[in-house]
Amino acid sequence: MLKENLENVRKNIKKACEKAGRDVSEVTLIAVSKTKPVPMLQEAYDAGSRDFGENKVQEIMDKYPVLPQDIRWHMIGHLQRNKVKYIVDKVCLIHSVDSLRLAEEISSQAEKKKVEVDILVEVNIAHEESKFGTSREEAISLVEEISKLPHIHVKGLMTIAPFVENPEDNRKYFKQIKELSVDIMKKNIDNVSMEILSMGMTGDYMVAVEEGATMVRVGTGIFGERNYNI
Ligand SMILES: *Cc1c(COP(=O)(O)O)cnc(C)c1O
Repeated sequence: MLKENLENVRKNIKKACEKAGRDVSEVTLIAVSKTKPVPMLQEAYDAGSRDFGENKVQEIMDKYPVLPQDIRWHMIGHLQRNKVKYIVDKVCLIHSVDSLRLAEEISSQAEKKKVEVDILVEVNIAHEESKFGTSREEAISLVEEISKLPHIHVKGLMTIAPFVENPEDNRKYFKQIKELSVDIMKKNIDNVSMEILSMGMTGDYMVAVEEGATMVRVGTGIFGERNYNI
């Protein structure tokens, strides 16, 4: 089951790349494994997944030591400043940085642990009340401020698009994120690159890839529905 799901998602990414004239190697599939047990992650690993996304610090801490060490862990959920210290040396990328205070804590914990940390700035592109992320207007100044901190490197932008029935409804938001990344790139800010655009989930990752996503975060489409009651 899981293996077929994965193959399907990979095929769809390939299709979207072909449609957009992109090379499939430009897109990283992140298997979003939150709430899923370790054996399922191992199954995905055995089927070739190396990038896993989690949204809770505790889950990363539990899973990290018992799974293969070549897994690249992605922190994709809201991150509290007091928990940064637990994961700063375990994750390859923090997708969810939306304030200078959080970035400052990441920078200072990175210094303590003697690591360099790559991050994305999370943008709340549709201005949804329920979601974290900086506004499009504030994103540029936030990137500029973060760029001055040591041991932390802005690699791009992340967004969680609205939950929609028809993925076409989110195309405009993915376009806006791409445009914003181009605007930021043109500013040539030291220590900032816009090589990563993390956007697209189970419902809309093909549209996101067509609009320039370099990372898609797929949970349900690989692991099945999540049960939060167990
Ligand atoms: C849960 C989650 C996903 C995956 O969602 P699916 O709809 O199950 O693919 C992607 N990104 C973030 C930030 C998430 O929290």
